[in-house]
Amino acid sequence: QPTVAIVGRPNVGKSTIFNRVAGERISIVEDTPGVTRDRIYAHGEWLGHNFNLIDTGGIEVSNEPFIKQITAQAEIAIDEADVIIFMVNGKQGITDADERVAQILYKSDKPVVLAVNKIDNFESRADIYDFYALGFGDPYPISGAHGLGLGDLLDEVIKNFPEVPENQPDDSIRFSLIGRPNVGKSSLVNAILGDSRVIVSDVAGTTRDAIDTKFVHDGQEFTIVDTAGIRKRGKVYEKTEKYSVMRAMKAIDDSNVVLVVLNAEEGIREQDKRVAGYAHEAGKGVIIVVNKWDTLKKDNHTQQQFEADIRSEFQYLAYAPIIFVSAKTKQRLERLPNLIEKVDDNHNKRISSSTLNEVIMDAVAITPTPTIKTRKLRIYYATQVATAPPTIVLFVNDPELLHFSYKRYLENQIRKNFDFKGTPIHIIARSRK
Ligand code: GDP
Repeated sequence: QPTVAIVGRPNVGKSTIFNRVAGERISIVEDTPGVTRDRIYAHGEWLGHNFNLIDTGGIEVSNEPFIKQITAQAEIAIDEADVIIFMVNGKQGITDADERVAQILYKSDKPVVLAVNKIDNFESRADIYDFYALGFGDPYPISGAHGLGLGDLLDEVIKNFPEVPENQPDDSIRFSLIGRPNVGKSSLVNAILGDSRVIVSDVAGTTRDAIDTKFVHDGQEFTIVDTAGIRKRGKVYEKTEKYSVMRAMKAIDDSNVVLVVLNAEEGIREQDKRVAGYAHEAGKGVIIVVNKWDTLKKDNHTQQQFEADIRSEFQYLAYAPIIFVSAKTKQRLERLPNLIEKVDDNHNKRISSSTLNEVIMDAVAITPTPTIKTRKLRIYYATQVATAPPTIVLFVNDPELLHFSYKRYLENQIRKNFDFKGTPIHIIARSRK
């Protein structure tokens, strides 16, 4: 999926445009505690083309002077994007800061589409001609405030998307490691690759920096998503939380299974919860990996206690298996590939309608459907409509009557009957026509 980044000096209207293009992602999962929506990364769609959208203005490199900030933001756009929207303010003409951004963008070979914002009416359209001087071809007049001109701008953006290679069948299981800095993601990657002494090849992704690593274990091919991003260190913005979150969200999008890595030495932190929330919301297979297990002095209860803490802090991830490992001593690492494979299987599992309906009917027989204000929920039929994640539609008399707690009860009954370890299950009620 291509990535579009919006870049430009502060107050030209980047986030207004970002929000207009991104719209609201329709989420069918329950609210995830701990997730504050970071509005710098979102999904956009135009004329059937899906893309990721980044508002680089939201990535603040703290304590850096203004020029360093916009330089870093332009570099992020170049690093992350397939197409860059360079936004300027039509009411102000070209400023020094615009020139500065332009100079950095010249140096890259990424396509740049110039958007002149705040062209709110026809009379002000003449103002856009000055911006030819920036050297990025035709300026596209837009009005974030009134939502004008976005269609033409997005048409041009889409024209610049890279050619998609013919879809080759890919049986590789794609997984990513996400977690805050220093939990040991990079060490885990090295330890995993060290163990599976088979082919390791770097595959260039859509952007120059997205380097994935493939390996084979027991005849199954795996791809570690964004290995380069995990290993990379150095540029100032790579240390900012927003940037890492954006990077993690991108990696999650691109994975089948997500390993949420925690640090046993430090316990669970607020940032861990946010990161785990993103994995859950994306509907991917999830495994909780507690790394640095070697650092704890353990007694009979240590693991049990840690597990209980995780279960209470990450209630929405009740389906995720937990594995306690050490990148340093390699404890239990040999179990990881099979666990990932198992979770991927479950994520793609399909249950026949007949078996599913038997389970639902049995469940209803044990605990009858609720009655809300004299109206009783009736479930007529259940069917699995999608995999990855498994998505089940219940045809009912009135979707409003499917209370959260009863939905959870049904989910638990389904999980008792089928192995869905590691994957969320989406249950949707629809009224029968
Ligand atoms: P990342 O930022 O999540 O990629 O973390 P790194 O892989 O760079 O690891 C951060 C630090 O933790 C490094 O000093 C590692 O040597 C150390 N580390 C990683 N895994 C383990 C582990 O399992 N046990 C111990 N004791 N140290 C570890």
